[in-house]
Amino acid sequence: MVMIMLTGECFCGAITYQIDGKVRDARSCHCSRCRKVFSAQASAYALVDKNEFTWLTGQEKLTSYMGEHGFGFQFCTHCGSTLCGVYRGDIHGITLGCLNEDPEIEIGYHLYVGSRATWEALPVSGKLYEEGQTENEVAK
Ligand SMILES: [Zn+2]
Ligand SMILES: [Zn+2]
Repeated sequence: MVMIMLTGECFCGAITYQIDGKVRDARSCHCSRCRKVFSAQASAYALVDKNEFTWLTGQEKLTSYMGEHGFGFQFCTHCGSTLCGVYRGDIHGITLGCLNEDPEIEIGYHLYVGSRATWEALPVSGKLYEEGQTENEVAK
């Protein structure tokens, strides 16, 4: 079996991590909250197995913002990069933008495209959902 290894880091490079496995279920959410937490037009996020995730350096520079329902995000206190999502204290997923290597996965679906910013062009790949994934898919 080939061991898959991915690494990621924040913008300043102080915080680094390693994933001994694959990330999965890559998605992008275009709601106003995700725009702010990712400082971008949308989130770019994939799930990770918490047992395959290891902080390598700079963990003391991490700070957390805990949101509703036990979900939160962790950031670099020096450069502000959003590195990962946490759920009830455990790593839940990673921000795709902080990965160093090709995760060999594409964003499969876009949530809340009905709430996207007026300045954002509609994504051209992946399934589009007006709201959550339980809603009907939007025709492109
Ligand atoms: Zn940093
Ligand atoms: Zn969102």
